[in-house]
Amino acid sequence: PDRAVPSETIAAIATASGRGGVGIVRLSGRTIGAYAQALCGKLPVPRVATLVDFLAADDSLLDTGLILYFPAPYSFTGEDVIELHGHGGPMVLQLLLSRCLDLGARLAEPGEFTRRAFLNGKLDLAQAEAVADLIDASTVAAARSAVRSLHGDFSREIHFLLDQLTELRALTEATLDFPDEEIDFLEAADAFGRLDRLQARLASVRDRAHQGRLLQSGLHVVIVGQPNVGKSSLLNRLAGDELAIVTPIAGTTRDVVRGSLQIEGIPLHVIDTAGLRETNDEVERIGIERTWREIERADVVLLLVDARVGVTPADAEIIARLAPGIVRITVCNKADLAGCPVARSQTRDGVEIRLSAKTGEGIGLLRDELLRIAGWHPAEDVFIARERHLRALADTGNHIGMARAQLPQLELFAEELRLAQRALSSITGEFTADDLLGEIFGRFCIGK
Ligand code: GDP
Ligand code: ZN
Repeated sequence: PDRAVPSETIAAIATASGRGGVGIVRLSGRTIGAYAQALCGKLPVPRVATLVDFLAADDSLLDTGLILYFPAPYSFTGEDVIELHGHGGPMVLQLLLSRCLDLGARLAEPGEFTRRAFLNGKLDLAQAEAVADLIDASTVAAARSAVRSLHGDFSREIHFLLDQLTELRALTEATLDFPDEEIDFLEAADAFGRLDRLQARLASVRDRAHQGRLLQSGLHVVIVGQPNVGKSSLLNRLAGDELAIVTPIAGTTRDVVRGSLQIEGIPLHVIDTAGLRETNDEVERIGIERTWREIERADVVLLLVDARVGVTPADAEIIARLAPGIVRITVCNKADLAGCPVARSQTRDGVEIRLSAKTGEGIGLLRDELLRIAGWHPAEDVFIARERHLRALADTGNHIGMARAQLPQLELFAEELRLAQRALSSITGEFTADDLLGEIFGRFCIGK
């Protein structure tokens, strides 16, 4: 695509803020040589780490460190890039960055380095998104699948499908030029067979992408229930041996806590709410409203009740307020006190699981149920994916289905194939509106 690639030199601190052994300032642009000259008195040998003194405008010493020079096009952005590896302190790096800005560079916007890499054809859009997803990964499984996407596994699948579509379109167009042979075409080109194989391959890609989206965005779970039924205990138990980060949400009801944990590598965002009780307290009321908004966004609501008591009228009020489509599991806690065995059962109101948060018995049933709801099945070859990708894949499938329905009308068949191809190629970014690019790259951190 012939998008204009900006030529200004951009600069940013590329390492995380805070203190560390090493910190990196990165510059990218068309004429980087002058910067290197001013910063350390020479243009270093390409791709060789060179120990230099970084100098201020008055030649005083800013820091001593390594400089790396990657001439275009063999760099992350595809432009000339230099990296200044200094000591990893906020003041040192700020000094180095300020010096670069004084020399004429502009502070990079979030994701601007990656955006330039995309515009220069170093990465496609799915790979660029994988860069952000790798950095944001909160579980090992998410990180591994992001690397797979970054490496191009997902993009290769998309390109394979695109090639098949292109071939079929070419065959169709050729036949359209010889109207007498239309019927022969369907047989000769094995149009139905090709469509079937395309759909099957697409289905497998969609499955892998669906798993990947789970790893990317996780499952949002809300635990609701009356005071003392064991919400906090359940949250801790679900976290198990894994690292549970449980933090109170400032400014809301005292009892609302958020936990980030994982089940089989899927990030689980859990909110444990205090009772959603009627209140006259303004602060608490705001907290409760916020909780309801969280509940409306959740994938799963766990309604926790005491197994000895069952669903109370107060619980029934909560149930009545839930959106009709929302997935709900009733968890009957304190099975140890109720003296009944742990179990999963299907009731008129959905799935019910009896367990004990205290002893841990029955927790496996709940974990399995959550995985089932998420649609997770363990796989080795998951690539990270986003909602946007899933929508494009679904759209592609619809158009292939419609193409099939149009046969033997070849013009309409060809048109549906074109639309399928268009939907599919939006994943890798061949046809992508600028505002979508802005939205995607705007969510990156600065310096990436
Ligand atoms: P929350 O107010 O809903 O968050 O409830 P907590 O998790 O703070 O639990 C309230 C009390 O019930 C605590 O004393 C817990 O130890 C106890 N508790 C929670 N779950 C169980 C359980 O499964 N069995 C038993 N025996 N006690 C439990
Ligand atoms: Zn609690």
